[in-house]
Amino acid sequence: MMFDYHIHPNYSCDAEGSIDDFCQAAIAKGVREIAFTTHLDTDYKAEDCVVRVKEEMIDTHSGVWLEDYENTIRTAAERYLDDDLVVLLGAELDIYPGVIEKLPKGFTDVEWDLIIGSVHLIDHQAISLKEDAEEIFSKHSVEELGETYFSIVLDTIETSMINILGHLDLYRRFGEDFYGPQIHELWKPHTDELANRMKKFNVGFEVNTSSWRKGQHEPLPSINFIKALVERGVDTITVGSDAHSPNDVGADIDRALALLGNCCGIKPSRFRGGTKL
Ligand SMILES: [Zn+2]
Ligand SMILES: [Zn+2]
Repeated sequence: MMFDYHIHPNYSCDAEGSIDDFCQAAIAKGVREIAFTTHLDTDYKAEDCVVRVKEEMIDTHSGVWLEDYENTIRTAAERYLDDDLVVLLGAELDIYPGVIEKLPKGFTDVEWDLIIGSVHLIDHQAISLKEDAEEIFSKHSVEELGETYFSIVLDTIETSMINILGHLDLYRRFGEDFYGPQIHELWKPHTDELANRMKKFNVGFEVNTSSWRKGQHEPLPSINFIKALVERGVDTITVGSDAHSPNDVGADIDRALALLGNCCGIKPSRFRGGTKL
């Protein structure tokens, strides 16, 4: 069954398409279950911390947008039941040291189905933007980058605020050009600790297909990284397109599902109310 657990509707400034637009696109493509995971960016030092609600920009921290977000998604969930589409309420939390003190007001009162935690920032700069990434890389050896990146991941797992780690090796996007093939080894020294902590705190990871659309040969994380986590007993895995427009809903999900089946004999996990089914 096709499903897509990483979708950015136009609550995110860098995304286009309403909740309805995405639901209809999903139905048209035969996707049966989707999770909306709006960006939740809260680091003032690094980024515009806003969400868009009815063409108005609202400070992420204020939390006044959460009610609109939750209502709109729950309404859509009811509306599309008859079309055999399950619609879940989620967010992609930008994780960095101290993020838990910066969560929007009312965040923990929301009945989330799924929270993805993703590292986008190192020292308040974006690892996903070429210029920022090169500046970050120029200050870190590949080992140092690994230490910094995975210490954020490990600390966040312990907060019990997230269910899924997003695009676990996003540093690959620009890291390969800068560091060369070494970048593909970066995660290795951290694997045991990472897997142990994920299992202890019931945190899984996603297979994010967006790298395929950007011309890379592997999803995020890479196949070897996926295998290493599965071999260590991590069995909570979702799949997501990271769509920022309705066109990309469900993109390469069938390819990710086939890969998971072939490489690890594993089926992806599904969530309701913050709990794996
Ligand atoms: Zn992300
Ligand atoms: Zn995303």
